[in-house]
Amino acid sequence: MTRKDGERAASLGAPLATLRGVGPARARALSERGYQSVEELLFHLPARYEDRRLLSTVEDLTAAGSYTLLARIRSLSRVRVRRRGLSLVRGVVEDATGSVPAVWFNRPYLPNQIEEEAEYLLHGELRVRGDGWELLNATCERPDAAVMTRGVVPIYPSISGLGASTLRGLMRQVLELAALPDSVPEYLPPELLKRRDLPRLGQALLELHQPAEEVDVDELNARLTGAHRRLAYGEFLDQQIELGLSRADVRGQAKGHRYRERPQLDDLLDSLPPFELTAAQRGATAEIFADLVGDRPMLRLLQGDVGCGKTIVAALALAAAASSGLQAALMAPTEILAEQHFRTLRQLFPEDLELALLTGSVDDGDSIRDAVAAGRVGVVIGTHALIQRGVEFDRLGLVVVDEQHRFGVGQRRALQAKGARADLLVMTATPIPRSLALAVYGDLDLSIIDEMPPGRQPVDTRVVAYSKQDKVYSWLERRLAKGSQAYIVLPLIEESEKVTAASIDLRGDELAKRLSGYAPAVLHGRTPPEERRRILDGFDDGSIRVLIATTIVEVGLDVERADIMVIESAERFGLSQLHQLRGRVGRGDAQAYCVALHHELNEIAEQRLRAFAATTDGFELAEADLAIRGHGDLIGTRQAGAPLFRVADLVRDRRLLEQARRDARELLRERPQMPSRLLRRLEGPDGERHDRLAGG
Ligand code: ADP
Ligand code: MG
Repeated sequence: MTRKDGERAASLGAPLATLRGVGPARARALSERGYQSVEELLFHLPARYEDRRLLSTVEDLTAAGSYTLLARIRSLSRVRVRRRGLSLVRGVVEDATGSVPAVWFNRPYLPNQIEEEAEYLLHGELRVRGDGWELLNATCERPDAAVMTRGVVPIYPSISGLGASTLRGLMRQVLELAALPDSVPEYLPPELLKRRDLPRLGQALLELHQPAEEVDVDELNARLTGAHRRLAYGEFLDQQIELGLSRADVRGQAKGHRYRERPQLDDLLDSLPPFELTAAQRGATAEIFADLVGDRPMLRLLQGDVGCGKTIVAALALAAAASSGLQAALMAPTEILAEQHFRTLRQLFPEDLELALLTGSVDDGDSIRDAVAAGRVGVVIGTHALIQRGVEFDRLGLVVVDEQHRFGVGQRRALQAKGARADLLVMTATPIPRSLALAVYGDLDLSIIDEMPPGRQPVDTRVVAYSKQDKVYSWLERRLAKGSQAYIVLPLIEESEKVTAASIDLRGDELAKRLSGYAPAVLHGRTPPEERRRILDGFDDGSIRVLIATTIVEVGLDVERADIMVIESAERFGLSQLHQLRGRVGRGDAQAYCVALHHELNEIAEQRLRAFAATTDGFELAEADLAIRGHGDLIGTRQAGAPLFRVADLVRDRRLLEQARRDARELLRERPQMPSRLLRRLEGPDGERHDRLAGG
């Protein structure tokens, strides 16, 4: 390494605490979300871009929309408001062509910061107020120090509640330190970049964070630029190589552990499930058992729509391992889901089977890790805490990953690497079209559950405008009075838009008050673990009748008695996310209902909600989603649940996927000469870091 390389590496590796504006608390918050170094923030990419190149004047403000202005700000004053936690500032924005009233929420210090005689660059929303217009929540910057109001402005997804302009300020410093494009090492062989006509990684990152002045913003937002293609290709290639390596590493060798004989495993089919399995569940279990008793490690994907009953199949596989004297692990993407699986399996499994729960918030993590390492635990259930250093197994035989699309490839691999050639079962409800399943999961065997347990009725779904919300909640009250149990889902709001949409704090309290006769509880990402467990237990046993929550209830939760879901601001969710959410109800025989409450809809959102109401079939919805997205719905793309990839899109980039697939094969064939950087990325023990580098 030359000295210059060394310096570059040092600045990329610099801890985030070296940035201005990042104190210990903020550094900790960032680190909890996986961002520790400058380099890691480099892979936090803009969700979208806003074109603020065009300056308007006040006289141009004749239609609702967002505008950028160069103007003075006059007559600022704080307005008293009743609601706790809310502040309001009013003023007037003025240039040579006229003036317009303006309002800011939660910017109490604005009047102290603004100089009446100075000109500011403003960017905000123009909306109707009374019989005139009003400029809402405009960002105000001095023209010489503008980061938010000038040119093509990248909008970053919020991290730990950091607002858009704070993040943008941090990213500015990151970019300065990172000295793109040359500092970021390129891991792809130059021939490959040339063959596929892709920019180098550093160049691509630079273009995404700092779009050129003359860039085509539509192309940027449609993610069709060379820079996007570079990252998408990288994600595909990583994934395809990973799949190939799994095949070579895992399948090429006999496994080092043995299960009991097949008939003994099959006995579990009759003894374990508390209900009659569907034919599809039996079929999938048979395929899994056949793999388990085989001499090559299993690599199997279990796919089945929300609610089809994948958990019991996983439980059978786990029981097969445990009853064979092997250890097994079940990894879930959220603590809530891991805790629920723990409860479910505890009830299902015989008492003498040692179970343990290992998540970031268990108190006795160390003693559990010891017990796992000593082999005293048969089945351990957890989150990605399972793959962190310090977790060792004594005789790991089987790894099951639930909702696998929520994990990166590296995380899956890291868990698998804990056991010498362990069997791997990954489960997903992601209804990707069949034609793509093969390409994506190329080397995994596929089991499909294409049948719902008997007695299920489709969830009766209604799409309702906010203007009728009072009626909806009156109806809900009547249902609750008759014994119903309900989820109310509120969207998680970026700090910066807190006011324009229902926020969990305000709206949650409001709804809890209205429904106070029905033991409501409010649950969100910041609810302490103890409290969270109490709430979920209560919802499970029916002592809590209304669960008002953010989308943390989206995946996997299974509370059979819940029969109503109200989704607020439903226009903000993508189709697959709506489908996942709705999957929380209708899990028993009773008729269940889902009400999607929405604000003003654009055409695409309207199509999406109409499709949502029209079918409860995941595959049909996936098809509809593609058809709608074909019209270029970027919001939908961003929000379409948890994507398998961060940048790549299976439909839009399917040609890239094919190319990456071919290239991966070729690279693997030449594996002895495979560039070590590329190989290290995929083979390293630290899954999370590698995912980030893959942009995934
Ligand atoms: P998912 O595939 O979404 O993970 P779950 O495994 O959580 O679905 O199952 C959904 C619900 O259906 C659970 O309450 C489960 O107990 C129930 N269930 C699963 N299989 C059957 C079956 N064969 N008969 C009756 N109920 C079933
Ligand atoms: Mg599930």
